[in-house]
Amino acid sequence: MKTNLKALSAKEISEFVTELGQSPYKARQIISWIYKKRAISFEEMTDLSKSFREQLKKTAFISNLKLLKKQISKDGTQKFLFELEDKETIESVLIPDNNRLTLCISSQIGCAMGCKFCMTGKLGLRRHLKSYEIIDQIIAVQKLIGDSGLKITNIVLMGMGEPLHNFDEVIEAIRRITNLTGFPKRKITISTVGIIPKIFELAEKGPQINLAISLNATTDKIRNKIMPVNKKNSLEKLMKACRNFPLAPGRRITFEYVLLAEINDSKEDGLRLVKLLKGIKSKVNLIPYNPIGKTIRVFRKPSDKKILVFQKILQNAGLTVTLRKSKGKDISAACGQLGTSHDS
Ligand code: SAH
Ligand code: SF4
Repeated sequence: MKTNLKALSAKEISEFVTELGQSPYKARQIISWIYKKRAISFEEMTDLSKSFREQLKKTAFISNLKLLKKQISKDGTQKFLFELEDKETIESVLIPDNNRLTLCISSQIGCAMGCKFCMTGKLGLRRHLKSYEIIDQIIAVQKLIGDSGLKITNIVLMGMGEPLHNFDEVIEAIRRITNLTGFPKRKITISTVGIIPKIFELAEKGPQINLAISLNATTDKIRNKIMPVNKKNSLEKLMKACRNFPLAPGRRITFEYVLLAEINDSKEDGLRLVKLLKGIKSKVNLIPYNPIGKTIRVFRKPSDKKILVFQKILQNAGLTVTLRKSKGKDISAACGQLGTSHDS
């Protein structure tokens, strides 16, 4: 069986090349071709000898994601549906915003966390993604947009899946993104529901990326109801883990808060949120609920007025608050809407 070079770490590629009787220096050239020049065949690697390329062709291959569908929203957001080797599909979303171009990538197919307001949660977990499938989303999208001169500036792990539930593969993917493609650490954000032991592990392994916590409620009672993960990861323990999370100078933890009418959008919720965040270097990202599916009517987005009142409470207490403009709603690419193409 041929070896997939994308599934190997840099060290493993070096070992593979040595086993073929070549100098490990060649590994560096191959890595640069795969991760920097986004090559998908050995023919492209023109600075390797023809005989070595033939040798590689016989023993190895470079996997890549197959683009099944690309949708472009009225607001410029693009959603990519990719097929994996086992025919499973994943979605990645490219979001232009002023001079930023953020790619939102998936870490799992489906998700096991079962948050009640999220489409991906409805799918359940189909499988974890491999590190190369995580990073391949970046390589594939950058390759697709390359001709237009566009460059991804930020990466967020906010697509399908809970990144900290697929910890090892996500960490390896981040390692490769930063070490092999040269993408800056500080432009990468992991968004998590807050699996506490994994937050500690992330702090320890210290990849120095940005952390975003999907808080979404200010009492255990409400959080337990909408996010089952809270039953084992209470708010008190979660906030303690956040307080202890080592931040690089000038960095802050983002707290995402999906606003659900009459569930977590009251004045009291706002005031409790202020209290919870006391002493944490934080910023709050309010996300008005995006409807999922046509049949689920349990949740509603609060009125614009209510959203503004909530935002004001936080601002008056000195918090930095952003209201996430929901992008790509017309193509089901907004937060929480990914996974819908599995329905068809
Ligand atoms: N699993 C991770 C990352 C993916 S979800 C996490 O939960 O953090 C990315 C964000 O989308 C989370 O902040 C989540 O709370 C939010 N989200 C999920 N469903 C949503 C919906 N229907 N409307 C708005 N935001 C939603
Ligand atoms: Fe999973 Fe995040 Fe959706 Fe919750 S919000 S079900 S953790 S993808």
